[in-house]
Amino acid sequence: MIHRLSTLFVRTLRDDPAEAEIPSHRLLLRAGYIRRAAPGGFTWLPLGLRVLHRVEHIVREEMNSIGAQEVHFPALLPREPYEASGRWTDYGPNLFRLQDRRGVDYLLGPTHEEMFTLLVKDLYGSYKDLPLWLYQIQTKYRDEARPRAGLLRGREFLMKDSYSFDLDDEGLQRSYDAHRGAYVKIFARLGLETVIVKAMSGAMGGSASEEFLAPSVSGEDSFVRCSGCDYRANTEAVRIGTPAPVDAASTPPALVVDTPNTPTIQTLVDLLNSRDDLRRPSSPWAAGDTLKNVLVMLRNPDGTRTPLAIGVPGDRDVDMKRLEALMSPLEVEPFGEGDFAARPNLVKGYIGPAALGADKPLGIRYLLDPRVVRGSAWVTGADTPGHHVVQLVCNRDFTADGVADVADVRDDDACPECGAHLRIERGIEMGHVFQLGRKYAEVLGLNVLDDKGKQRVVTMGSYGVGVSRAVAAIAEAHHDDIGLRWPRSVAPMDVHIVIAGKRGDETAPTAEQLATELAAAGLHVLLDDRDGVSPGVRFKDAELLGMPMIVIVGRGVATGVLEIRDRIAGTTTEVPIAQAARHIITCSA
Ligand code: ATP
Ligand code: MG
Repeated sequence: MIHRLSTLFVRTLRDDPAEAEIPSHRLLLRAGYIRRAAPGGFTWLPLGLRVLHRVEHIVREEMNSIGAQEVHFPALLPREPYEASGRWTDYGPNLFRLQDRRGVDYLLGPTHEEMFTLLVKDLYGSYKDLPLWLYQIQTKYRDEARPRAGLLRGREFLMKDSYSFDLDDEGLQRSYDAHRGAYVKIFARLGLETVIVKAMSGAMGGSASEEFLAPSVSGEDSFVRCSGCDYRANTEAVRIGTPAPVDAASTPPALVVDTPNTPTIQTLVDLLNSRDDLRRPSSPWAAGDTLKNVLVMLRNPDGTRTPLAIGVPGDRDVDMKRLEALMSPLEVEPFGEGDFAARPNLVKGYIGPAALGADKPLGIRYLLDPRVVRGSAWVTGADTPGHHVVQLVCNRDFTADGVADVADVRDDDACPECGAHLRIERGIEMGHVFQLGRKYAEVLGLNVLDDKGKQRVVTMGSYGVGVSRAVAAIAEAHHDDIGLRWPRSVAPMDVHIVIAGKRGDETAPTAEQLATELAAAGLHVLLDDRDGVSPGVRFKDAELLGMPMIVIVGRGVATGVLEIRDRIAGTTTEVPIAQAARHIITCSA
């Protein structure tokens, strides 16, 4: 088919739009693929929509090929099922809630576990019906705290979500593996390199879960890759190895020391090393010898706030994303001046384990980094201004309410599996595969009769692909300074023909003739037949729009050749006019 730029609904922008922070967003706007309609909401223009449809098509083909069946739910959903699963509340402010004219509660679906569970419960009742895999490609709504980077994080976005239903754990494992395999193929066909990492299961509940991350500096996720083994994990999900307990038999008793003007770890360490009575014979004091107690407030789904303290070695920080992931669905907020004011017994800068713990008067739950092992000795706050305590031994002098593995993970940290160095990278979460287990089936009563006639709770998996996000991620992975460079599998058009001659010369008829031949062979041809647009502007637009092949019908026509630019390979070749169609068709195959 021939698509003429003279009539195509597209306007390219010469300047970078102010709203765009990352290349894909900037280029998709500049090239006229999308327009912003609302915060986190985008309008798809014809070229953008073609890419989106091609992505959808690939996802659909691969889902169908493993035997999943497509259905389609509404986005506007009743409250009750989400009430039953707890997510009406647990989803917190991320859920778009609304009411109909009668005051009945509804929500806009952020993901559809409950609805799929109820649908299967409605229609199926025997183990013979299983396994069953259903999916949809559907608009999702989430009131994201920070919509950003265009399609990467929208508040309305397109997701492919599938759900598996099995009788037992082995069945679930097979369903999970089938989806994982389909995802590998989907992302390969989309031209997206992805890394499969261990993930947290978040507000979904459930156990085994992995994410497909597309490595990109524009991604919001960070993940680790081990340099020695195949351990890969989202930073949120990294679980450090717990060191062995320490024998504290020879550690002298804890001692409170006067440490004036030491509000920071560095000032404290410097002071300890400068004092003859405190200096250690073995090695100088270091930040890692101190125990830093970090306070945060947790916002519960019902809006109430609960304080939490986390003790980490002083050379580490609490990674707020890791903490959020661990605490989900609770949200983490800073511990503000008002929170201190409400608890005058907390001595800012000198908070120690003595004041912390659910059983203490302040009632602040206290969790420790796994590095703070039984028997380890620490320098920490003495809960008095200007005072610290040294040789405070874990489980001898203080205890906590539990463990929280939420300290920051760094390049060169040891791999929890093999001890080699971890490398940190950033990535975009493209897909997520989850073994949900029986959580939803239990609360919503999805049972089937097994072969002995007994009721069994069904076990489920849920599997998501960010379809609209994929368009941005592909653009992020495939562009250069001058424009987009779509992989052939998703490009809106196969070839872009630029007429670069003068009115009345042979270029226009030659281009028309070539376009007709290519269209007859089934290619989608974008023909720049605009009047009054200079060749320079046409070249620039062709580069910006990013079709895999650009054909320049210009000066060469006089000597019987066309110039073909391969936008992906970055090469330019001259081809005789008579062979041009064949050449392009072969390259596009
Ligand atoms: P994120 O951590 O990026 O918020 P998530 O873990 O909440 O994502 P899932 O619930 O696993 O997302 O959703 C499945 C897929 O949907 C994700 O892997 C991602 O590709 C896509 N997705 C999720 N949220 C958004 C969004 N706000 N905009 C676009 N795509 C999204
Ligand atoms: Mg996810």
